Amino acid sequence: MKKLILKRREEKRLQNGHLWIFSNEVNSEKSPLKSFHPGEQVEVEASNGEQVGTAYVNPHSLICARLISRTLQRLDYSLLLDRFKLALNLRQQLFSQPYYRMVYGESDLLPGLIVDRFGQHLCVQINTAGMDAITELIIDGLKTVLQPDSILLKNDSPMRSLEGLARTIQSIHGESPDMVELVENGVRFMAPLQTGQKTGWFYDQRPNRYMLKDYVKEKRVLDVFSYVGGFAIQAAAFGAREIWAVDGSRAALELAEMISALICFDHLFTGEEGDAFHVLKALHEEEEKFEVIVVDPPAFIKRKKDHKEGLRAYQRINELAMRLLHPQGTLLTCSCSMHLKRSELVEILGKCATRQNRHVQILAEGSQGPDHPIHPSIPETRYLKAFLARIM
Ligand code: SAH
Repeated sequence: MKKLILKRREEKRLQNGHLWIFSNEVNSEKSPLKSFHPGEQVEVEASNGEQVGTAYVNPHSLICARLISRTLQRLDYSLLLDRFKLALNLRQQLFSQPYYRMVYGESDLLPGLIVDRFGQHLCVQINTAGMDAITELIIDGLKTVLQPDSILLKNDSPMRSLEGLARTIQSIHGESPDMVELVENGVRFMAPLQTGQKTGWFYDQRPNRYMLKDYVKEKRVLDVFSYVGGFAIQAAAFGAREIWAVDGSRAALELAEMISALICFDHLFTGEEGDAFHVLKALHEEEEKFEVIVVDPPAFIKRKKDHKEGLRAYQRINELAMRLLHPQGTLLTCSCSMHLKRSELVEILGKCATRQNRHVQILAEGSQGPDHPIHPSIPETRYLKAFLARIM
């Protein structure tokens, strides 16, 4: 392996646990980034000659290298198998059925790789050049460890563009069905693998969906940014009297309705297609009220510079939701923007309630499920926030 040499003292963050190397941290005289090809594995060395570990490089990306080992060890088939087995051990301990995020990138020491498991079907996202270079090994490794019927390469994330990689969706092993089954919190679902958003299902919200259990019995529930109805349909399974789903995607709502029918909740279901901000306003004008409302928007703050505008969007959507809440209603508000601080979402809750002359009690707090483990040195791996609150 060639050597990637860091500038003076730039090894500190890595030695404190981080895995990323930024392009301005590399000694470009001793090891010019241009001399490496995308995905190449290298030995990382501190300026004093100390060995830092093994990384893969992408000279075209701001994060120009990611550590894959703290020793001199290539990410080869054997190490890949070890890491898959480690990842699988955790999930098998957590879940009695094979429906989970099986690999969560950096947190599973496989930077840039996502694998979601739907029983015998896998959906794989390869987001970096380093992982892309070993696609075949990854597929072979997954076949060995999980013996899946099918593997879909859902390589369409915007991150690939930043890495200079093409965006494609490809069935790479067996036949990937468009719709796959999954069971979450004891409730049966279907997820659209090929045509769905991201990997088809948001496993990260599993514990937060379960949080609804004690609050929805006999209640009228509104699921805002519902996608295929993960929250709404679980609410129905937990005894809700009515479930309403709001989403901008017609395809997602049609699926939500189909899944409701599949598990005999279609008589409880109402879908409202449209921009959530408009739909919530219209529902208010129609004097609709709900006892439980879930707000789970897409990331309104994708980059740091969107912070101010994004904050306003969170504020606005929570305000609109609160107006639809019964006196003594329950609000489950979420944010998957890693740039929105936990304290900012708490503040939004307080501010919205006060403006509407209401009192708020936070009853529970959630994060992403443990199949999305948090890497303590990489704040980006902790992104999901959820607060369950009573608004009086
Ligand atoms: N709550 C879902 C996941 C939500 S993902 C679950 O539990 O699985 C975010 C959803 O917001 C997507 O389905 C997307 O179609 C929808 N969306 C994005 N912008 C929107 C908007 N302005 N109005 C309504 N829906 C929107």
